[in-house]
Amino acid sequence: MRILITGGAGFLGSHLCDRFLADGHDVIAMDNLITGSTANIAHLAGHDRFRFIKHDVTDYIYVEGALDAILHFASPASPVDYLELPIQTLKVGALGTHKALGLARATGARFLLASTSEVYGDPQIHPQSESYYGHVNPIGPRGVYDEAKRFAEAMTMAYHRSHGVATRIVRIFNTYGPRMRLRDGRVVPNFIQQALRGEPLTVYGDGAQTRSFQYVDDLVEGITRLLWSDEVEPVNIGNPTESTVLGFAETINALTGNTAGVIFRDLRTRDDPQVRQPDIDKARRILGWQPQIDLVAGLRRTIPWFRDELRHRGELA
Ligand code: UDP
Repeated sequence: MRILITGGAGFLGSHLCDRFLADGHDVIAMDNLITGSTANIAHLAGHDRFRFIKHDVTDYIYVEGALDAILHFASPASPVDYLELPIQTLKVGALGTHKALGLARATGARFLLASTSEVYGDPQIHPQSESYYGHVNPIGPRGVYDEAKRFAEAMTMAYHRSHGVATRIVRIFNTYGPRMRLRDGRVVPNFIQQALRGEPLTVYGDGAQTRSFQYVDDLVEGITRLLWSDEVEPVNIGNPTESTVLGFAETINALTGNTAGVIFRDLRTRDDPQVRQPDIDKARRILGWQPQIDLVAGLRRTIPWFRDELRHRGELA
């Protein structure tokens, strides 16, 4: 198969490149590198089934030759990034999704949209199943990401219904692992780096808000199964083990031996969802998928990667 991955130089995109190459496919990664980095795919340079194209997918996309699948992962994805890049975030979710769907239609490729738990907003139903329509503030700071992804889902379903494109939608819950950007501002890179430096972890608000973190390899397995399945409607892929942000901070401090504790910071500008936990019954039922890597095991694979990165950059002794 010949597979195009938009956002292929990003955290998730680069892991997907690895997976599809390992499965024997030809992979084309496309990225404009505003939040992605060629460092994530440097190990693939020279691979005879891999190609990288630097391109902004909000512009017309041209790829020579046949395509069997398109995975649309291009987008700023951390709250800090999309607050800094609000218009690019809206454009890639809207115009970029339209262009990528157009390419899928023209080539007959199947199309998989990277959607997000953010479509549920600050949820009033807990845990969140795919049938929940969400509780999103369109004009809040997160609206640029949430609404772009909601539009992208609507556009994807429209291409399926009107043009018969074989589409898939994955709603991705908080994911972590090697290759997260050090400065993307999310809780996992922030806490791990602070802990490795022996600093207190910056807990926003009172830390009672919850998230449910999945290790990247579990997500990649779920996406692969969904892509080759027949399921057109959205599927949650996430790890249902929920923890408070404060509890998560304590786990990171325990695993790194950091004794500096936590420091509380004001949360008001972030429009943070108070709770988040995936209901994964659907993924279990139709994909036979469930996470295999628990939080401690995943963090034990992730913390050494951050330590190496920081040492490599001369930021850690
Ligand atoms: N958070 C925190 N300290 C940080 C970064 C994030 O307490 O240094 C909190 C944030 O307020 C949110 C949770 O951790 O409640 C997850 O934030 P993240 O930016 O990783 O992604 P989100 O799940 O909000 O999209």
